[in-house]
Amino acid sequence: MIDNKSILSAAYFHNEDAAYAFVEARLWPRGPVCPHCGGVERNRKMQGKSTRVGVYKCYDCRKPFTVKIGTIFEASHISMRVWLQAIFLIASSKKGISSNQLHRSLGVTLKSAWFMSHRIREAMRGDALSPLGADGGAVEVDETFIGHDKAIKPKGEKKGRGYHHKNKVLSLVDRNSGQARSVVIDDMKASTMVPIVRANVAREARLMTDEFSTYKLVGREFAQHGIVRHMLGEYVKGDIHTNTIEGFFSIFKRGMKGVYQHCGHNHLHRYLAEFDFRYNNRVALGVSDSERADLLLAGVKGKRLTYQTTTI
Ligand SMILES: [Zn+2]
Repeated sequence: MIDNKSILSAAYFHNEDAAYAFVEARLWPRGPVCPHCGGVERNRKMQGKSTRVGVYKCYDCRKPFTVKIGTIFEASHISMRVWLQAIFLIASSKKGISSNQLHRSLGVTLKSAWFMSHRIREAMRGDALSPLGADGGAVEVDETFIGHDKAIKPKGEKKGRGYHHKNKVLSLVDRNSGQARSVVIDDMKASTMVPIVRANVAREARLMTDEFSTYKLVGREFAQHGIVRHMLGEYVKGDIHTNTIEGFFSIFKRGMKGVYQHCGHNHLHRYLAEFDFRYNNRVALGVSDSERADLLLAGVKGKRLTYQTTTI
């Protein structure tokens, strides 16, 4: 037999026991934890022939449980090894992967593929985060427009012009750490944008933006505010620029156009979470495909999504 070093030949992609063992080792590093009573001492693995893979019984509260409880895998009939395959595919493809492609590659129904990919995106969502630029470094902030928000009718704008009816995204990139953070915004009012900038950028940071009036308003609150006047064709003044965030937007837009053509407004925040996650854990920052999949797996806890909330 040829010694195959392919990551896809790993046992946890093909064997259900190995898949559970892989997930349990990551979510329960100190051994199984009962999700019902929090017990850690008296949990026994059920071994009977008719027992499902991965079932434990807690002898404190006498209830059965698996590692799926309280995670994105809960109440799903898809096998763990297929979940791990989907996580690896999504984590390792630079521009993302469509539900259609997952459906074809994994042999699950299109509906299951769509459901899995939304849950996996939810696992990529960051938790409460510290402000960017706390080391006094540059934080670039900019907004972009993508697709159409079907809830908004074009307001007398000529076809193809204006952004009123488009989905609006506000992103921030910390230049030193290379970390990006993106939020869907309903409008471009200062009352919408200023609180997001305040909550996500440290006062010590050097803010880098274009000349949009809202940024001028909030810019005074930071150690420095570097402005590039794009309207005047000005793009770089020493280290004052927004080129990093523009690079981030171009990856996001290529991915959205190429892979996710039909993304509704109510799902956009999940796609943003996916692009932020992949960008923040990219190869250029020293994160391999397997490490990225591992980081994604660490985010599956506490992100249980009901079917209703993912229905269009
Ligand atoms: Zn218990």
